[in-house]
Amino acid sequence: MTSSPPPTDFIHDAIRRDNEAGTYAGRVQTRFPPEPNGYLHIGHLKAITVDFGIAEDFGGSCMLRLDDTNPDTEDVEYVDSIVDDIAWLGYTPAEVRYASDYFGQLYAWAEYLVEQGLAYVDDQDGETISATRGDFSTPGVNSPFRQRSVEENLDLLRRMRAGEFPDGTRVLRARIDMAHENMQMRDPVMYRIRHAHHHNTGDAWPIYPTYDWAHGQSDAFEGVTHSLCTLEFESHRPLYDWFLANLPLDSAAPRQMEFARLELTHTVTSKRRLRTLVEQGVVDGWDDPRMPTLRGLRRRGYPASALRAFCTAVGITRTNTRKAIEELESYVRRELNATAQRRMTVLRPLKLVLTNWPTDADGNPVVEHFEIANNPENAEDGTRQVAFSGELWIEADDFAEVPPPKYFRLSPGREVRLRGAYFVTATDVVKDADGTIAQVNATYDPASRGGNSPDGRKVKSTMHWVSAAHAAPLTVALYDRLFSTAAPGASTGEPLDDVNPRSRELLTGCQAEAALAEAGPGQVVQFERLGYFAADARSPGLFHRTVGLRDEWAAAQRRR
Ligand code: ATP
Ligand code: MG
Repeated sequence: MTSSPPPTDFIHDAIRRDNEAGTYAGRVQTRFPPEPNGYLHIGHLKAITVDFGIAEDFGGSCMLRLDDTNPDTEDVEYVDSIVDDIAWLGYTPAEVRYASDYFGQLYAWAEYLVEQGLAYVDDQDGETISATRGDFSTPGVNSPFRQRSVEENLDLLRRMRAGEFPDGTRVLRARIDMAHENMQMRDPVMYRIRHAHHHNTGDAWPIYPTYDWAHGQSDAFEGVTHSLCTLEFESHRPLYDWFLANLPLDSAAPRQMEFARLELTHTVTSKRRLRTLVEQGVVDGWDDPRMPTLRGLRRRGYPASALRAFCTAVGITRTNTRKAIEELESYVRRELNATAQRRMTVLRPLKLVLTNWPTDADGNPVVEHFEIANNPENAEDGTRQVAFSGELWIEADDFAEVPPPKYFRLSPGREVRLRGAYFVTATDVVKDADGTIAQVNATYDPASRGGNSPDGRKVKSTMHWVSAAHAAPLTVALYDRLFSTAAPGASTGEPLDDVNPRSRELLTGCQAEAALAEAGPGQVVQFERLGYFAADARSPGLFHRTVGLRDEWAAAQRRR
């Protein structure tokens, strides 16, 4: 997918070294392992581009593995959305697998560890187990059940598996070292008893593996060579390696490597917190265009290619940093500038009447058509005919009865250009009973046809317009940041305290040129002078503002 040479970062470098040493016979196989307990978000995007991107860079393959080891929180609804989101991003998993596919093999390996004396059944409850783990300065306390015989452990494990014991009454633990300096190594739990229905395995299993017990072993079953994950798993790596070193693998053990999480300003990337936003009605759903979910970003009009390009630019590092959301928006804008067709739309319409506009033989206002380029950045997008007549909609804030200093748009006595059409000069206003301006009267200069100056005289502003008789109404959603602070929760510890109560403004009664009606579901169009807007895929006539036109990121880079 990328044409530039693969980047040099610590992961690419380590894989090159493995290839030179022949560790995996030159094979590169990765996996993206989401837990199907929510929708994918912009943080997952980072992991996806790393997992799939590295496989691509080395001519290897990447699997999608649904990490479904917790029957309480997982659902097929999420599985389907994950599969769909990855396809939308433009990646094709070599295979789609479930951690639960391996429950049988994994259990056989648990019996193997028991037989080796490396795992035991502990009858202590969860509270006791955590209370006896110790902490950084205190070693843990051995369980009174730690010295059970292999025979007894095997018998108890089999009875756990057969469903003989109630939830929470026993666990299987690895027998490592209760005084280990790494807390993860203090006899970690491998299986819990949980009599629950699982979306994939039904009622077949009354015991469920923990993340640590399932993950590396699933990697090994699949033939993964490089298991890439985020930095919080670094402390789990010794355990990952310990399990694999003690199991009868028939090829080289996969290698875990960690990279930094992606966090963005004004954004939270935690499924749990995103779920709260949905449940509390702060947003309309997981695909609300303000949500940092892939569904939300897609509905908002973010192109998949721009999301990928942003992640490539961020690169693979080992330092957790919060990236400016303006930088991501800059990628979105760059992509849309090249691809989005231009249309004229008036968000807050004010009537402009040309008092010297001609009428035809029947006394109807003349209708003219102007040929306007669909995208000046891309000649292949061609042109369209835009109707023009004597009654127009202009943007309310493009007129000021009493212009403030440095205001160069329309005001009484001032001449401006209506883009691609004519020069017009405002003459007077018509007001409602309450004094609000209902209509602006103006004259046009027939010699300025096409918006060209007839005699070299200059105007200081060019404005967009829509012919009132040909306009199509639409509703527009404008968005502000969902969180008003750059690092949500930094001051109170609770990100949801920083939710911006005015993150959406719905404008009804907007007016667009007729051609906008041709925008297909999800298509992003540039509304001239206003920004990029995505046609909602479900509600015709509703547009979401993707991003504005001003590149705040580029401006900030120039100021540096
Ligand atoms: P959450 O905390 O939102 O529930 P998670 O890490 O529990 O996320 P998983 O479904 O377990 O979600 O994650 C699948 C993969 O995505 C993991 O390898 C995880 O490291 C990665 N991932 C999750 N969040 C981020 C992030 N912000 N940046 C980079 N990778 C991430
Ligand atoms: Mg997780």
